[in-house]
Amino acid sequence: MQQYKHLLEPLDLKFTTIKNRVLMGSMHTGLEEAKDGFTKLAAFYKERANGGVGIIVTGGVSPNRLGVLYPGAIKLTNKKEVDKHKIITSSVHDADSKIVLQILHAGRYAFHPFLVAPSRIKAPINKFTPFKLPSFMVNSTIKDYIRCATLAKEAGYDGVEVMGSEGYLINQFITTKTNHRQDKWGGSYENRIRFPVEIVRGIRHAVGENFIIIYRLSLLDLVKDGSSWDEIVILAKAIENAGATIINSGIGWHEAKIPTIATMVPRGVFAFTTKALKEVVNIPVIATNRINTPEIAESILANQNADMVSMARPMLADPHFVLKVISQRVDEINTCIGCNQACLDHVFENKLTSCLVNPVACRETEIVYINPRKIKKIAVIGAGPAGLSCSVTLAKRGHIVTLFDKEPHIGGQFNLAKLIPGKEEFYETLRYFKVQLDKHNVKVVLSTNITTSDIINGEFDEVVISTGIIPRELQIEGINHSKVLGYLDVLKAKKPVGKKVAIIGAGGIGFDVAEYLLHNKATSDKDFTQEWGIDTTLSHRGGLVPPRQLNPIRQIHMFQRTEGKVGKKLGKTTGWIHRESLRKNQVEFHTGISYDKIDDNGLHYTKNNTPHTLDVDNIIICAGQESHTYLATQLKNHNYHKIHIIGGALMARELDAQFAIDNGMKLGLLM
Ligand code: NAP
Ligand code: SF4
Repeated sequence: MQQYKHLLEPLDLKFTTIKNRVLMGSMHTGLEEAKDGFTKLAAFYKERANGGVGIIVTGGVSPNRLGVLYPGAIKLTNKKEVDKHKIITSSVHDADSKIVLQILHAGRYAFHPFLVAPSRIKAPINKFTPFKLPSFMVNSTIKDYIRCATLAKEAGYDGVEVMGSEGYLINQFITTKTNHRQDKWGGSYENRIRFPVEIVRGIRHAVGENFIIIYRLSLLDLVKDGSSWDEIVILAKAIENAGATIINSGIGWHEAKIPTIATMVPRGVFAFTTKALKEVVNIPVIATNRINTPEIAESILANQNADMVSMARPMLADPHFVLKVISQRVDEINTCIGCNQACLDHVFENKLTSCLVNPVACRETEIVYINPRKIKKIAVIGAGPAGLSCSVTLAKRGHIVTLFDKEPHIGGQFNLAKLIPGKEEFYETLRYFKVQLDKHNVKVVLSTNITTSDIINGEFDEVVISTGIIPRELQIEGINHSKVLGYLDVLKAKKPVGKKVAIIGAGGIGFDVAEYLLHNKATSDKDFTQEWGIDTTLSHRGGLVPPRQLNPIRQIHMFQRTEGKVGKKLGKTTGWIHRESLRKNQVEFHTGISYDKIDDNGLHYTKNNTPHTLDVDNIIICAGQESHTYLATQLKNHNYHKIHIIGGALMARELDAQFAIDNGMKLGLLM
């Protein structure tokens, strides 16, 4: 019996068939507005189409000038703009896949001063207050959606997706939270959903029967005064009657204070919403959010929780996801770990989207594997993220690679990350690299401390030093006291930690260690939904219930010397979750302090010229990293210059996994 038969089953839409149940969800990449961006975007989508995905949804395209996400952002409003889309649609069709254009009007989420919304109510995540759309402009906006769909058809798209979730304009019409109108577009629920229903009806009328219309419906708003489930059912039926082909789902407005896609969100946890929706509509329903493996996708479909699954970020991480399922190479899938670091965080920083585990994403035309002029014997010392990425890239290009590590397993810092509750996805990246090393015949030598003479007397043409980082040592009086532990003592050596703890350093590792010390078991779906106050019974407005009060198993204090927000360097789209999670566990943050000493009484520090003593069982040092350059320095001292230094060994200060993997790959492409 075929293992992923539900995932690979075609979906018959009567007038056309989608070849499997995988939809690549909408993502803004930044290529939409970049120089020569459409050529790059076409290559990006083509790669995913070649990888077997059933249907692709483009990033959001505004139907008019006012709805763009930011000044200069993509729109489709006239015939002149149609031609440049044809390169995208033909590339995808050549690769035997389908593509629909997402129509997204940002409403009060637009980051420009001319934004509009149903009512003049500012979004908490925007500095601009929207203008209220006058009634005649509501009508013209509907016409703009219809025109955009017609132009999309002309450009060769197989359909459109009407973005009706995540808190954008359509959502803003639907809820009383953002719609205070008294005309026919506000007041009763029937009036408030008139806007999306007329859009879908108008599009269907304009494009005819044989064109896909996906409506992205918010199934859990996760904001106060959001829609109730009964209302959502009314809307879903109205959208079906208005002519939609498929209902895709959306979870949470962007301003919601509940994580919906980050790595700590359990896989497939929101499938209960599409399961309920499937019972009330007759058109296919798509499940979304944290579906990142064939197993979870298959189980959602096999359990009839949805008719299709949407995967957006997993298609950044591995464009050939579906192909690998078809050819039974599931263990070769490069799994999206939900970190948001190179995708969503980049969008918010106005940088080009890519992927932490797959730096080629969105750079398909620039990063190409070329056979080396000479095949070399290369030693890579250190099997952390940088060393792994470099070894695999070198070996893929044909070099003969030996990868050494002093530990009995590959992974370096990833082996610490995977221990942190909510970061278990790092296991997948290690599995992926293990399979790749094997596939490309990298010789892996573990539990071996490579010395200078091993290299000098070895037969290697070149050597890559990826020896990573070492924890920074601090000069505080009493630093050698028995209460003091390093983060490696806690995470790696598993030394016992008391109930009252001070953490010195509130960066990425400090947050990780705090999470580790606060959890004593893996988080289940129920733990997650209860902790964040998500209503799984679909009986509370907005999908919200009071969050469960936590009883932290430890009392933790986190310290940093700088003033201001803790965890400032954490990702834009995930930092708030880490801070909120620790606050829920009553962690106390101390900023703008200086350390005085450590003794039997605990940690002595000064804040605002006032000395304090904190009685704690342990003080854990998470004060950043320094490059581990011993081997590199020794080799240089021996006049051995055939070395390349990458990752943390090259630069510890701003080190993260994204830099390490990218840096390793880039060197691997050059040698
Ligand atoms: P980090 O993020 O740079 O944080 C180091 C912390 O130590 C800061 O809070 C800093 O605060 C403090 N510190 C620095 N020098 C100090 C000194 N001499 N004495 C006392 N305190 C000192 O480094 P990290 O936590 O080791 O993380 C390493 C990298 O991995 C970072 O890029 C991080 O973003 C990434 N990472 C990210 C995550 C995540 O996003 N969840 C998780 C793990 C790691 P003050 O200087 O203000 O005291
Ligand atoms: Fe997934 Fe992280 Fe890659 Fe984004 S950057 S696609 S979240 S692995």
